[in-house]
Amino acid sequence: MEVSKNETITENENNEAGFAALGLDERLLRAISDMGFDAPSPIQEQAIPTEMSGRDVIGQAQTGTGKTAAFGLPLLEKVDSELKKLQAVILCPTRELAIQVSDELHRYAKYLHGVKILPVYGGQDIVKQIRGLKDGTQIMVGTPGRVMDHMRRGTVKFDHVHTAVLDEADEMLDMGFIDDMNTILSELPEERQTVMFSATMPREIVDLANRFLTDPAIVRVAKKELTVPEITQYYYDVRPNRKTEVLCRLMDLYEPKLSVVFCNTKRKVDELVDELKSRGYYAEGLHGDLSQAQRDRVMGSFRKHLVEVLVATDVVARGIDVEDIDAVFNYDIPQDDEYYVHRIGRTGRAGRSGTAYSLVVGREVYKLRDIQRYCKTRIIPQAIPSLGDINEIRSEKILDKAVEILEKQDARLEKMFDILDKRIFEDEVSSMDLAAALLMMHMGEMKTEDDIADARVPKNLDELGKRYEDTERPHGRFGGKGSRLDGKKLRVKRRNEDRGDDMVRLFINVGSRQRVKPGDIVGAIAGEAGVSGQVVGAIDIRESYSFVDVDRKNAEKVMRAMRNAKIRGLTVHMERANGEK
Ligand code: ADP
Ligand code: MG
Repeated sequence: MEVSKNETITENENNEAGFAALGLDERLLRAISDMGFDAPSPIQEQAIPTEMSGRDVIGQAQTGTGKTAAFGLPLLEKVDSELKKLQAVILCPTRELAIQVSDELHRYAKYLHGVKILPVYGGQDIVKQIRGLKDGTQIMVGTPGRVMDHMRRGTVKFDHVHTAVLDEADEMLDMGFIDDMNTILSELPEERQTVMFSATMPREIVDLANRFLTDPAIVRVAKKELTVPEITQYYYDVRPNRKTEVLCRLMDLYEPKLSVVFCNTKRKVDELVDELKSRGYYAEGLHGDLSQAQRDRVMGSFRKHLVEVLVATDVVARGIDVEDIDAVFNYDIPQDDEYYVHRIGRTGRAGRSGTAYSLVVGREVYKLRDIQRYCKTRIIPQAIPSLGDINEIRSEKILDKAVEILEKQDARLEKMFDILDKRIFEDEVSSMDLAAALLMMHMGEMKTEDDIADARVPKNLDELGKRYEDTERPHGRFGGKGSRLDGKKLRVKRRNEDRGDDMVRLFINVGSRQRVKPGDIVGAIAGEAGVSGQVVGAIDIRESYSFVDVDRKNAEKVMRAMRNAKIRGLTVHMERANGEK
């Protein structure tokens, strides 16, 4: 006991020395210690002392390496809190990033008094911004476009600016801000310190640096430091048409409170969001086609946990900066190695643990193997959880809840005992039988297994790669027999077996969670549409929705009649199940 206590103390001292050795103000050290920063990240360790010496800096590092503190801490150190004038301009590519950086600086400045930081971006009420700028703001964090606006209007004064920061300069270039950056920098006082961060160094950025930075120190973080070690990474070998099912199983099994699902296209994002919503998940999409206001709304709901699953494209990945994301799902394997790193970096932030799950279809395994090599990381193969696993976990949870009730010794339990006692005596059933039946009722409809992937889990990516090589490669680049076609045939056949071609599968937005039983659905359909119960085929009740097979001839009529129908007091919504024509 005594020993471990001593060890802990020593460790803390060392860690404090880590940041303290950089020569930062005690109030800043206290704030970052509150935030749980133990030791400076490599980019911080290199950049902070150089910036504090007053030298210009070019920092090259990927997302998630801690750049905000790398430029933010020395800047806060330098700002004169007594002087109520604009002293620093930070440029960021997007409004989300401007807000993020501003928030992060606020956190560092927690124990400093009289330092005012203002995010300035398009779409926000400019009058409010003007008032904020007049009101003694010392640090402005803005997008180039909006900063230019203020310059044109003369609502921003640069006379006292001693520091300029370009955050994600390459990204600003990509977004077409190169001219704005040039203009802004040339309008700032020449006597100033300039710090530039950029993941890559395209020619335009090098030119910009040559023009506006003086003898900059170059600080680089090697690529291998990209992957955050706390992120456990798994992958699953999945059939293309079962991706959503596998995704849902993983979410049901691991129950992440907040998760981000990445798709490669905007269209897929929209489709998947619809699918997830219909399955009862609180999901929203985030991609470049949404307006700023829509994006803000989605991010706001996510932050407040009103949305649990954020489905996004890579374009917006950088803007997703929420600290308690437990899981990232790669619904599609990213096109680019670096995207993979950006994506999984959305979880495991601020020293928390996180998990990344990737769904691999067929030859995508090669892409994943490249990623593994490039990131010097390990992506572990996993078997797709079976429905048995999921049912087991679900029943455990129900029983846990029951035990919790018992432990609370609720007075109403007495009454329940009496009821059960009477029934056990009268019907000659055992308490065990009754408990089993009650558990089953709580479980809702238990799904049955069908094939989603090859049952055998490969030991590693190389082995999985080999499997595809064995089965597909011999047919050459141009395909030949190709397993995809086989899969299609198989699928069609299975569907015909499931239910005759004369039946259509309909979706209805109520399920076991709403205590809906097959009889309720048949009754409603028969009653509302005035058809016989014979029209209705198989009914598959899931947790928050159900599928109903209906005679093709009557499908339209049923859907129309069910438009304003109610089941168990709930207004229901019925449509063709996904993939139905
Ligand atoms: P970047 O701008 O390089 O993408 P950020 O500055 O946004 O990275 O930092 C990523 C995350 O890591 C943030 O949540 C931040 O609070 C956290 N962080 C930064 N520096 C440290 C540190 N030294 N120790 C622990 N967490 C840190
Ligand atoms: Mg950043």
